[in-house]
Amino acid sequence: MIKEEKKGITVKKDQDFSEWYTQVVQKAELADIRFGIQGFIVHRPFGFFIIKKIYEYLEKEIENNGHVAFLFPSVVKEENLRKEKEHAGFTPEVFWVSEAGDKKLEERFALRPTGEAQIYPLYSIWFRSHKDLPFKGYQSRISVFRNEMTTRPFLRGREFLFFETHDVFNTHEEALKQIETDLMICKKIIYDKLKVPFLYFKRPQWDKFKGADDTFTPDTIMPDGKRNQLASTHDLGRNFAKAFDIKVMKENEEMEYAWQTCFGPGIWRTTAALIGIHGDDKGLILPFDIAPIQVVIIPILFSDKDNKLVIKRCEEIKNRLNKYRVKFDNSENSAGYKFNEWELRGVPIRIEIGPKEVKEDKITLVLRINKNKINFKLKDLKKEIEKYSKSIDEEIKENADLYFKNKMKSANSYVELKKIIKEYRGFVKVPFCSIKMDGAECAEKLKQDTTANVCGVLYPKEDNVKEGLKCIVCGEKASHIVYVAKSY
Ligand SMILES: [Zn+2]
Repeated sequence: MIKEEKKGITVKKDQDFSEWYTQVVQKAELADIRFGIQGFIVHRPFGFFIIKKIYEYLEKEIENNGHVAFLFPSVVKEENLRKEKEHAGFTPEVFWVSEAGDKKLEERFALRPTGEAQIYPLYSIWFRSHKDLPFKGYQSRISVFRNEMTTRPFLRGREFLFFETHDVFNTHEEALKQIETDLMICKKIIYDKLKVPFLYFKRPQWDKFKGADDTFTPDTIMPDGKRNQLASTHDLGRNFAKAFDIKVMKENEEMEYAWQTCFGPGIWRTTAALIGIHGDDKGLILPFDIAPIQVVIIPILFSDKDNKLVIKRCEEIKNRLNKYRVKFDNSENSAGYKFNEWELRGVPIRIEIGPKEVKEDKITLVLRINKNKINFKLKDLKKEIEKYSKSIDEEIKENADLYFKNKMKSANSYVELKKIIKEYRGFVKVPFCSIKMDGAECAEKLKQDTTANVCGVLYPKEDNVKEGLKCIVCGEKASHIVYVAKSY
């Protein structure tokens, strides 16, 4: 019984979140970090089930919005990567392929750090007329590569999972409308389905996507107080269209550059938020629809005489619940071990069946979210599971909303801000001079002094700036209320 020695989570989530997170990722078998090359992880079946679900939600929403899927190679031509001036800023993080076998390649190429520079050269060939637009394309279930120095499963890696849309429009208005749609899709999936709360920000100019005019993001706060950017959508203006020559003939027969947006929901980051925000000291807590196992049935065995009947009843229940993902854990492990194991892995509903339940035609059920133990008649099984599948999600959402509500403070002086940042884990609202490039200096000083970043201003509606407020860093007239938080 060597397996019995495997222990549950050994730290409290609010005392050492970082260690808690590492243990949950490994002990719940979400990812394996023993692949052997730093920053590259293996997605194990339990974790990959969750990730596949997130991909499915996204693909469905994005296709309902008129996108079509395509698939590009994993590599980019060097010259294309350098075409858009600001975008070329990715190159320090790029992995290069420069040899094959023992020969040096005539022309090295890059493993894509993101899709723009590989996709847009083809866009310049594909589109000729304004009638070819709008075009909305996406690629899903792919990886991108960046040479990150510090890595953590689902938060930062040298190879990480990606999903990206690349949309082309005739007008800027259409592009801006798409950004609103992208943000609504974030709400539908990240909040409505996964119950992860966030705020929408417009990023300051010094922290936008390389090559974009503006970047918009849903950001949440992890339990260690760090900002987690869950997705981003970018108004690319005509910057890439000019760099890659994406032009169409307009009705007046003049050639004009197209307008572009791209949207990248963070598959990993969303998974990290799901783990970090909902989980408790025992491990994962998962919304019902995304749980790899939704119901686990555990036989409570006492004497050989009853065992057969108990096992038979468990199998019967499993069959009755065939519309759900049900696991009948008939392993050698003790019942207590099984309880811990499936709690750690976030199975929303546990059914316990012993001789008493068999004799009385009853079900004993325990909910992961609140440990409530409930009894009901066997004949009500389907109805009750249906009911709890909904109430579990509601409770997860309520808990997450309450958690997030307590992640917001304000500061009006630099001293106050520094004090708050030191002991508090969340967003701090502060008056700030500018989110254009001229505010970068204040943001840099703030980062030096507090290690916190300016996340940006709320979007679409910024907070009002009261008369007389001054930038918390430089003391000049404030023109924005920005949100400040530490980040990964
Ligand atoms: Zn300032």
